[in-house]
Amino acid sequence: FDPKMKVLLRLVPYVQSHVLAFSFGIFGLLIARIFEAMIPMYVKMGIDNIAEGKTQLASNSLQYADVQSTLSYPAIAIVFCVIGQMVVTIISRILIRRIGIYASFDLRNRIYQHLQLQGSGFFSQYSIGDLMARAINDIALVRQVIAGSIRMTMVLIFTASVGLIFMFSLSVKLSLAVLLPMPIISFVAYHFSKRIYQQSYRVQQGFSDLSTFVQENLNGIRTVQAMAQEHQEVNRFANVNQDYANYNLVLFTTTSLLSALMPILAASGTLIIIGYGSFLVSSGEITLGTFVAFFTYLGLLLWPVREVGPLVTQWQRGASGTARLFEILDFRPEIQNTPDTAFPDLTGKIKVKHLYYQYENKNKYALADINFEVVPGETIAILGRVGSGKSTLLRLFVRLLDPSSGNIYLDGHQIDGFPLPQLREQVCLVLQDPFLFADSLGDNIAYDKPDREIEEIWESADAAALRETIENFPEGLETILGERGVTLSGGQKQRTALARGLIRMSPLLILDDCFSAVDTETEEHILSGLKKVRQGLTTMLVSHRVSTARHADRIIVLEEGRIIELGTHEELLDQGGFYADLEKAQTQSRNTRIAAIRAKETLAVLDE
Ligand code: ADP
Ligand code: MG
Repeated sequence: FDPKMKVLLRLVPYVQSHVLAFSFGIFGLLIARIFEAMIPMYVKMGIDNIAEGKTQLASNSLQYADVQSTLSYPAIAIVFCVIGQMVVTIISRILIRRIGIYASFDLRNRIYQHLQLQGSGFFSQYSIGDLMARAINDIALVRQVIAGSIRMTMVLIFTASVGLIFMFSLSVKLSLAVLLPMPIISFVAYHFSKRIYQQSYRVQQGFSDLSTFVQENLNGIRTVQAMAQEHQEVNRFANVNQDYANYNLVLFTTTSLLSALMPILAASGTLIIIGYGSFLVSSGEITLGTFVAFFTYLGLLLWPVREVGPLVTQWQRGASGTARLFEILDFRPEIQNTPDTAFPDLTGKIKVKHLYYQYENKNKYALADINFEVVPGETIAILGRVGSGKSTLLRLFVRLLDPSSGNIYLDGHQIDGFPLPQLREQVCLVLQDPFLFADSLGDNIAYDKPDREIEEIWESADAAALRETIENFPEGLETILGERGVTLSGGQKQRTALARGLIRMSPLLILDDCFSAVDTETEEHILSGLKKVRQGLTTMLVSHRVSTARHADRIIVLEEGRIIELGTHEELLDQGGFYADLEKAQTQSRNTRIAAIRAKETLAVLDE
């Protein structure tokens, strides 16, 4: 019918396990249609009985009561058919709807699981709004296909074919005459359905654009307001909204046209029965009962014909929704999870050999020929300008990225030899811009294992210089963060994330610039404490301050993706390079600051 409908076949695995219930449901639909189609037969029987009874009454061969009793059998049969149809319909509808719910449940789980595996490439391609639209709207469409469209299609096919069989059994001639307009109807249905498919795809795309827009706008609402761009944003929204409304209008017009045309074409059948049918009655070829029954059968045929249009729309919307879902499911995660063979816990020994990394959309290496080794328990500070590749290097250690060439060895094993969950449990990365959940402070710190002891949480809070902050909240560790709770400052957020990283005591802790919003004194305080807390465990951290880097055992200086200096604080100062210059500049500005504070104090004293 339409090659794009082929994607629906991919839903088969999701309904396969329900084959039995499905077959029962479909079989029930057939039975219900047979019950339905038997009703006109009994109507015909009743009418013919009356006609015959009348002539026999006239010739006095029957009593009035006898004629009456010949009517009670078809009447009872009709009641039986109606009840039978109702019961079977309800049962099969429930059976099939349940399959739709189960299948969309499975699909939703698959998608969520799949999203958890995706890397930054995926999320830069699909916005959150777009993904939300797919996960909500498109899954609803898929459920409708499974529970609604399939059932409806079978109902229509059964209704029409059972109706046809009964019709033909009554009169072949009249049946053929009634079917005469059918080819025209099929042609119109095909023509319209093609257009409806394209138009409904655009409607869904429009909805996606709309939700992406709202999502981005609300995420950046502070910036929008700070820059006084509300008015422009409202206008831009109005445009996107207008597009969406237009797409809907076009689609609506097409579907209305289709559903308006159908009854017109179908009404011609009525005319044929009245014209040709009454001729057949008067010529004695069919009985009056047959003539009346044909109107009901025509109704049974008309109904599916009228429903074909909306049903085709439903199928095609379902197909485009399915296509959009499988587009997500087909996106191969950039980082592939490897063997299940577990390794013993890491000691924190690292070797980086000829490591290169290039972002796909860049023509320059973000990291080039990186070589260094770390012994267990060492603390390494990484310094370098913005964009020198510090974050890129650190992301490679938890396999948020995989090297373009070269390799990282942990305890002598290539990093991609570790199962991903194990690697990420042993190597803990704390980001500069941490994400905290809308949950209690304590639960945020103990995010990896919610059943941690309170003492553990306080210990790591101490190490992250967070105790005072927590104690200042009346509810302490139970304080709820985020939308329905308190908002932390940038530095408090960073220290919470740090506590969340420290609590794991992982053999390798990596801090990516996670002091950028913390003041110098606190940073130094945390770092000097860190060495005690992480005694014997390896730590790598990015810092901008020489005053903190000097606490590290060794320092790596990156410049344009290359290591330009590597050594202890004293060694690097002796080299007189980037690090030494930075030290001079920062000491100077620090001295100036201290001098300024002293001067102020002196002035204040003089004032008195
Ligand atoms: P640093 O952390 O030292 O500031 P990064 O590692 O973030 O530096 O960036 C190193 C280089 O890689 C920069 O030139 C930056 O523009 C580029 N880069 C970083 N992230 C991406 C990305 N997701 N896609 C493309 N280029 C990136
Ligand atoms: Mg960075």
